Amino acid sequence: MIRSALAVALLLALAACSSPSTETAPPQAAAPAQSEETAPVNPLFAASTLPLQAPPFDKIKDTDYQPAIEEGMTRHLAEIEKIANNPDAPTFDNTFVAMEETGELLTRASRIFFALVQANTNDTLQAAQVELAPKLAAHSDAIYLNAKLFDRVKAIYDARETSGLDPVQLRLVEKTCTDFVRAGAQLNDADQSKLRALNKEESTLSTEFQNKLLAGTNAAAVEVDDVARLDGLGEGGIAAAADAAREKGLADGKYLLTLQNTTQQPVLGSLTDRELRLKVLEASETRTSRGDENDTRAIIQRLAQLRAERAQLLGYPNFAAYSLADQMAETPENAVKLMTDMVPAATARARSEAAKIQKMIDADKGGFKLTAADWDLYADQVRMAEYDLDEAQVKPYFELNRVLNDGVFFAANQLYGITFKERTDLPVYHPDVRVFDVFDADGSQLALFYADFFKRPSKGGGAWMDVFVEQDGLTGTKPVVYNVCNFTKPANGQPALLSFDDATTMFHEFGHALHGMFSNVKYPSIAGTSTSRDFVEFPSQFNENWALEPTVFANYAKHHETGEPMPQELVDKIVKARAFNQGYASTEYLAAALLDQAWHQLPADAPLQDVDQFELDALNRYKVNLAEVPPRYKTPYFAHIWGGGYSAGYYAYLWSEVLDHDAFQWFKENGGMSRENGQTFRDQVLSRGNSEELAAMYKAFRGKDPSVEPLLEFRGLK
Ligand SMILES: [Zn+2]
Repeated sequence: MIRSALAVALLLALAACSSPSTETAPPQAAAPAQSEETAPVNPLFAASTLPLQAPPFDKIKDTDYQPAIEEGMTRHLAEIEKIANNPDAPTFDNTFVAMEETGELLTRASRIFFALVQANTNDTLQAAQVELAPKLAAHSDAIYLNAKLFDRVKAIYDARETSGLDPVQLRLVEKTCTDFVRAGAQLNDADQSKLRALNKEESTLSTEFQNKLLAGTNAAAVEVDDVARLDGLGEGGIAAAADAAREKGLADGKYLLTLQNTTQQPVLGSLTDRELRLKVLEASETRTSRGDENDTRAIIQRLAQLRAERAQLLGYPNFAAYSLADQMAETPENAVKLMTDMVPAATARARSEAAKIQKMIDADKGGFKLTAADWDLYADQVRMAEYDLDEAQVKPYFELNRVLNDGVFFAANQLYGITFKERTDLPVYHPDVRVFDVFDADGSQLALFYADFFKRPSKGGGAWMDVFVEQDGLTGTKPVVYNVCNFTKPANGQPALLSFDDATTMFHEFGHALHGMFSNVKYPSIAGTSTSRDFVEFPSQFNENWALEPTVFANYAKHHETGEPMPQELVDKIVKARAFNQGYASTEYLAAALLDQAWHQLPADAPLQDVDQFELDALNRYKVNLAEVPPRYKTPYFAHIWGGGYSAGYYAYLWSEVLDHDAFQWFKENGGMSRENGQTFRDQVLSRGNSEELAAMYKAFRGKDPSVEPLLEFRGLK
């Protein structure tokens, strides 16, 4: 996942910052935090003097963000007014380049702020977010709905074919103009007022959703009094549960099973106590639908409705149609077809997996019917029986540092020639965060990379990538990129042993990071990962392929105690077992993605929906309502679509997956992993951001349009 798309709509309107050398001395009296003579200087007001403008986390206080962002909005608006009111005739330079250079303070402060709100939040930051969200939405509208500014944009757009623009300039003009139109620039005054109100309301509700979800997920963690009930978790798992209980301030002897963001929970693969399993699953599925203060359903009802109203104002039949119009998929029909074509094979496979698991339960004299809470535990037994593969056997070979240095970084070195060196002199926002210098093949600095791997209560669920500083070809600014994950933190002094899924997640997020770090685009608003959602998961999912590449795998999968490589027999089993459980994985994903489409295909005149009933109907309609395979996210805790930038866009993972398997096929056809192939991919895809039409960019790299066949083969769905 990337967070860029979800930061705030306003970032679309923003360019990244200008270089530190052009930074003027900050704090005018206007800045609230600066107005008191004795007030300490707000460090966000000046560009960081740290390497690559790394955030000075040791100097920034939680109370610094709001005044910096508010002053940032004021300055940004003044800059925009100046461009809009320029007496000179509009030109590419005095309008488009000028816009790219605006909003320096706002961009800097909000990027750091939103990074922390997601990864290390607290009451002060959350309160600031609640206040800022509607103001930021209004700010974005103030730019996109500025009629004088749009007139200039439109004039340049209309003359684009004859004014001598180069292809990248043309792309910027077309994309920016589209963004203005999609934001309502062509609406009449009355409709623009309606739009402003809807945007403001949406930003407030979306923030409320995120805060309730975090609180609900923490509150739904399951307490256990008797250690015997944790049978199956192993020493490490039990110690982690004890740590989590201590962290929450529970009495000694108590244990806490914390929840991750998905419906299915990793502990369900180990716990032998069935009652406890059922309790954990129920806690997961009802975390934000218990009728308490963390219930999100009323928010969701209104969010679905107001998005439909917004789409209607902008001339679309529903929000999905609006949302997909500027994506690779172009229409909801295209996105839904890709998914529904897969439903029969995916659900058939899930049903046959369920039958096998039920057999295992019966052979065990379990005496119960399989539920989602039992799936992983018994699926593991099927895996052992069919593939003779035991997760517990595998984990000692995936120690976090080895996976990172000898796997993720190693693969990037083999493909792209880049190298990494950890540094401990830069300030971080939490002691778990690590920082790396990234050097290009010629030894020059390419980027900074921050990694924040472990789960904690102050962090939202899932894994994501974003930037503190975006690459900017106008100023020569280099990117500062970060990855955030939610791996279980080992008990003190223990090594962090990952599952193969976790290791794959690390490759995934680093694929996004490469997209950000290799960015070599002149204009920051179309740099790095600023692509459509259904393209942005392509570099990340593509990078997952290297986790099992034999030379890479042999380099990192070594026993954490002995350093012995994983026995070939076990490696073969992992490769073979890849097709395992694909019915479940495909079905839970399709259910969530189709649910997202259903919610966002509601017309504007539809009444408020009963959330539970709507979900049930949609799952039935798309034939993905399997009791044992609940959606990966149920409606009330589907953060991608209610709190983030994937509304009507959760299908994007599958769309990107078509590209990722097809691109990997290109590598296979051209000799596999090599510097030469890596360079081609970097030059033609990873460095280009959104600087040309994405389907054309892909085709130029591949030599033809992508085919869905390699994906179906990989998932065993042919
Ligand atoms: Zn991703």
